[in-house]
Amino acid sequence: MTGLIVQKYGGTSVGTIERIQNVARRIAEVQKTGKEVMVVVSAMAGETDKLLRMAREISDRPERREIDLLLSSGERISAALLTIALNALGCPAVSMTGRQIGLVTDNSHTRARIKHINATRAKQLIEEGHVVVVAGFQGISEKGDVTTLGRGGSDTSAVAVAVAMGAELCEIYTDVDGVYTTDPNMVADARKLDVVYYEEMLEMASLGAKVLQIRCVEVAKKYKMPLVVRSSYNNEEGTLICEENPSMERPLVSGIMYQKNQSKVTLRGVPDEPGIAAGIFDALAEAAISVDMIIQNVSAEGHADISFTLDTDHLQEALEVMKKTAHQFKPENLISDSNISKISIVGEGMRSHSGIAARMFRTLSDENINILMISTSEIRVSCIIDSKYTELAVRALHDAFDMKTAPAEANGPAQKKSP
Ligand code: ADP
Ligand code: ASP
Ligand code: MG
Repeated sequence: MTGLIVQKYGGTSVGTIERIQNVARRIAEVQKTGKEVMVVVSAMAGETDKLLRMAREISDRPERREIDLLLSSGERISAALLTIALNALGCPAVSMTGRQIGLVTDNSHTRARIKHINATRAKQLIEEGHVVVVAGFQGISEKGDVTTLGRGGSDTSAVAVAVAMGAELCEIYTDVDGVYTTDPNMVADARKLDVVYYEEMLEMASLGAKVLQIRCVEVAKKYKMPLVVRSSYNNEEGTLICEENPSMERPLVSGIMYQKNQSKVTLRGVPDEPGIAAGIFDALAEAAISVDMIIQNVSAEGHADISFTLDTDHLQEALEVMKKTAHQFKPENLISDSNISKISIVGEGMRSHSGIAARMFRTLSDENINILMISTSEIRVSCIIDSKYTELAVRALHDAFDMKTAPAEANGPAQKKSP
């Protein structure tokens, strides 16, 4: 539907009845200009966590299928309330759940992936002049059960709906004015970025900029759906997330991300022979535990140490798997550290310039922060550090790369890579 705009409102934006009414006024104004609008909403702020707490009060391991049904109710409430608010303003609106919008997913409860959307009914309702308000974060599995798309999943619902509807744009309304150089709630000097490329946003989302769920960026990139992140409290321009434009000047480093909830597991003194790493990581993969960074170093004769990092939420499970399978790779010692953070710098400029990783390491060392692990990609450098230095590291790097005022190509001297 050419000209259709899909707008997504996050939890804080619909966190109270007053805010829901404010969002309804914004939507009604757009609709008055003759634009077709479709809306995707999150649960009211705190609602998803509240529902999860209730389930955990009853059981340590509630069934994932039941969690999905429980959590999907949060988004239904806000969709219905916003629809009531729109109708009360005289703006005809209809709410739809994941099932009603025809959003079909695979069967993996609490982290389902979207297979397809059959939006026939929504298209008809919009053609008849309605605003369609969709409950985000949820779908229906091929078996017919309610599924959810992982935390932050309403972002992904919005982009998928925009693609299915053939919308021209997907706007993500949230509690900040756009995508910033780093978390604006941590660093007051953080600067709003006007444009971020899909590739950069993918790295930023996977490295902790929770402003967009990573799957949402993957879907937007795949279907070239332009995304705009903006505030639901004002009319500021926001940040455009789009395809790379080589003619545009880019800063060396666009963003600094952090992830606090990380842990490190070390198997000391495993035999230095073929098959050991395969055995360890096969066992973890079988338990569906995702591992992030891996380091192996040869210690004493015929022995090596293997360390890996992962989300602290999966630490206990990983340790249990390691203990259960220890007879295969006979570590002298199994230790873990749950006080670590991952700090990352991301920027398209790194493809063509060298010296950026070195500057990151120097900055951390000037602050007396020890680097425990390092990993890199073409447009990213990540370091694991002691979590008590997280804020210090993010602030120091933000200053070192001159990010609060950085005009294009301007975060300090770095050498152009020779071709
Ligand atoms: P919503 O409820 O609207 O989905 P989220 O809480 O999921 O909002 O995401 C917005 C939050 O993301 C902001 O309040 C901010 O603290 C955080 N954030 C982290 N990194 C960044 C960043 N680089 N740019 C913007 N926001 C960020
Ligand atoms: N309500 C869900 C969450 O809190 C989904 C979302 O807000 O995008 O994760
Ligand atoms: Mg979110």
